[in-house]
Amino acid sequence: MTLRLYNTMSRTKEEFTPREAGNVSMYVCGPTVYNHIHIGNARTFLSFDVIRRYLEHSGYDVAFVQNITDVDDKIIKAANEAGVPAADIAARYADAFLKAMADLGVRRPTAQPRATETIPEMIAMVERLIGRGHAYVVDSDVYFSVRSFPGYGKLSGHDIDELEVGARVAADERKEDPLDFALWKAAKPGEPHWPSPWGEGRPGWHIECSVMSEKELGLPFDIHGGGSDLVFPHHENELAQSEAATGESFARYWLHGGMLNINAEKMSKSLGNFTLLKDVLTSYPAPVLRLLMLQTHYRSPLDFSTERLDEATVALGRVATLVRNLRWARSEPPADSGAPDSQREALASAIDDARAKFTAEMDDDFNTAGALAAVFELARTANSFLASSQQTLSAADHAILAGAETTVIELLSVLGVTLQEQTTTGDYPREVIAVAAELAGYDGDDTSLAVDALLAARAAARSERNWAAADIVRDELARIGFAIEDTPTGARVVYRQEG
Ligand code: AMP
Ligand code: ZN
Repeated sequence: MTLRLYNTMSRTKEEFTPREAGNVSMYVCGPTVYNHIHIGNARTFLSFDVIRRYLEHSGYDVAFVQNITDVDDKIIKAANEAGVPAADIAARYADAFLKAMADLGVRRPTAQPRATETIPEMIAMVERLIGRGHAYVVDSDVYFSVRSFPGYGKLSGHDIDELEVGARVAADERKEDPLDFALWKAAKPGEPHWPSPWGEGRPGWHIECSVMSEKELGLPFDIHGGGSDLVFPHHENELAQSEAATGESFARYWLHGGMLNINAEKMSKSLGNFTLLKDVLTSYPAPVLRLLMLQTHYRSPLDFSTERLDEATVALGRVATLVRNLRWARSEPPADSGAPDSQREALASAIDDARAKFTAEMDDDFNTAGALAAVFELARTANSFLASSQQTLSAADHAILAGAETTVIELLSVLGVTLQEQTTTGDYPREVIAVAAELAGYDGDDTSLAVDALLAARAAARSERNWAAADIVRDELARIGFAIEDTPTGARVVYRQEG
């Protein structure tokens, strides 16, 4: 199977072939840092994080560039309201953005340029556009002449004459045409400014993406991404600027994510119906939010609600429990007899099916919803294997259960969804060895054997009705982060990393 993706430019799913075999160049518009990001913004950034992860999983080297807009009208407004310099607002919220992305498990781009660090290159592009007759100066502002670029409207599917009718309503007489947009804006008193051939000023928003993408990736780069609300005018304008300035094609595939809605309305700062990402992450772990978002295809609208977060919590908890049970089932040495061959074969083919379906779904325009369904299907089959009544498990059973566990963990991790509990014995804290030495006479150096020794000591104490000794073992384990679960076949521990 080859990867197919929906290209906004052609309005069809196309087979993906990068410009250079084995390498993908990708640019995703970043945030304007004037406030904390909301979960709508986070959805778009998460979608492209997963797209990047899947491309890497598929064997590509991915150059992933995302800008940070750190000079803009909204930043200046927020700075004026707070009575601090615009640069302070930008620095504060750029830091907050980076932290929130890390907390959500979004990987850092390979390059993350800031607008204020790219001013000379932006001035150079504006000069090129003026030189080629695509831009003009009015006082100390520079505008892009939309009519000078014949392809204007090709990305968003807008007809330039129809756009003109709408634009005339809010016409600014200084522009030659109401559709023209600012490349460079003269600074008003108190605004951040840089010297330019047209006087002190600052860049328009669209120009920064044109400049940074070309600087980091060269033209045409493979994938340009953002939320669907950026198609027009932002991406249409980026495209017009870049192609007009260079005579080259700008981006090969345009990918746009659907909006996150709340009560069927787009979540946005201006409507005031937003929930900040950082606030959601104080109540719900990142993998839960990721799971919720990835259960919807990235191009479809997503209706957000706390009920859906709670459902995702339950769904992820079930998978975590399954993984624990798969490990627990293998904690005893294998017996001579186990499950019937037919049952093992069924689980083996469920593993193969899950892997194949996961890849097919992701290759189909990154259908994370279908990919997750494949993982959950495997989880169900593995659960019913465990629930069926075999009394003992053979070495072959152990192998197939280990295969199921690895597959579930691995496929989820391609989507950046990690399970809540650290269940790998290798991650047990070494402190448990000293506790086992003291309470259970354990003299080895293996954390999971130390846990076993403690559980055995607790069982012995309980059989002697020495509840105090049993409780000490439980409390000491709890202090390190282990919870004891008593099951019909004995006690086991669950380790919680944060414990
Ligand atoms: P902004 O800082 O407003 O430019 O937005 C940053 C990113 O978030 C852009 O890619 C937007 O398309 C995206 N975005 C804004 N609102 C939403 C929303 N409600 N759902 C999904 N993405 C959004
Ligand atoms: Zn952009």
